[in-house]
Amino acid sequence: MYDALTSRYTFACPVRGETHVRLSAFREVERLPGSAHPAVFSVRFECECGDDHLGLVVHPELDWEPLGLQEGAFLNLMTARIEPIEAEFADLAIRRIGGGEWPWTFFCYPEERPRPVFPSFFRLLAPGSSRDSLGIAVRCPACSRVSVNLVSAQHVDLPFHNDAEIGVVEHVFAEDVARSLEEFRGQLYSADFDARRLQLQ
Ligand SMILES: [Zn+2]
Ligand SMILES: [Zn+2]
Repeated sequence: MYDALTSRYTFACPVRGETHVRLSAFREVERLPGSAHPAVFSVRFECECGDDHLGLVVHPELDWEPLGLQEGAFLNLMTARIEPIEAEFADLAIRRIGGGEWPWTFFCYPEERPRPVFPSFFRLLAPGSSRDSLGIAVRCPACSRVSVNLVSAQHVDLPFHNDAEIGVVEHVFAEDVARSLEEFRGQLYSADFDARRLQLQ
């Protein structure tokens, strides 16, 4: 369950009963095979109790509810075409997207260009070596290849907040960028990041 006012997801926690986490607390996002309408994602997240837990998120919660969009709205990533919906919040989101602003962006290293993206294309997330930095492994919606970016937590948590400049690992990753979250964390700490500008236009 996503709360657009606090930008937090609600999950069950074995210690606290219920916990509220931001997108930047997600560690692994994996689409469950076989699920289609809607697609269901298994999410490993870092809980305030100190442990990681697993939770389930359906596709609209992951990509559209942070924008105030409900299930049933169609948003084409490449053409920015969307069916109009009534809610005012959604209306604002649609106008911003129509104006060329994207809720989430990342830098695709194989294509050497910024791309719009949605959280369902995030694969792995882990804190970077500096404070407030977050490493994300993203599968590109356009070319399907994986890039690793270093961004701020806000870049992930707040739709339409895009860092002006982000870190990019100059390496073309295989689909299985890391077999485990631990391996990804290790890669993040040893990797060299190059700065790229995230200007989409
Ligand atoms: Zn917990
Ligand atoms: Zn790409």
